[in-house]
Amino acid sequence: MTEFTVKTGRRTEMLDITSEIESELNKMGVKNGTCLIFVPHTTAGITINENADPDVRTDIENSLDDLIPWNNNYRHREGNSAAHIKTALIGSSESVIIEGGRLKLGRWQSVFFCEFDGPRTRTVFLKLY
Ligand code: ZN
Repeated sequence: MTEFTVKTGRRTEMLDITSEIESELNKMGVKNGTCLIFVPHTTAGITINENADPDVRTDIENSLDDLIPWNNNYRHREGNSAAHIKTALIGSSESVIIEGGRLKLGRWQSVFFCEFDGPRTRTVFLKLY
């Protein structure tokens, strides 16, 4: 198991963390296997999607903000229910095959850390199995 931190800059933000994950795998000397990428937060998640056109992530961020508005008569007193709901939809983990020290992703895919209550410093866990 290893972990690394991610600094986010906006309330809702998708950050491509593929190279950070591969750099951690490299430090660990891992060439092959499967990697669980887990986010130990209730208002941030992890997903895999297109890295080629940055408008895709902007469209996902904006659509989630439109679907789940920040203010909507939620009951949760902390005031960040929208972030909890987006996290529930996106999920907290992804598993990816490792081959030759690289994540075996599709040509247009990257792993994205999804911040929903930023800006903050966050943690990502990696576990090989
Ligand atoms: Zn909360």
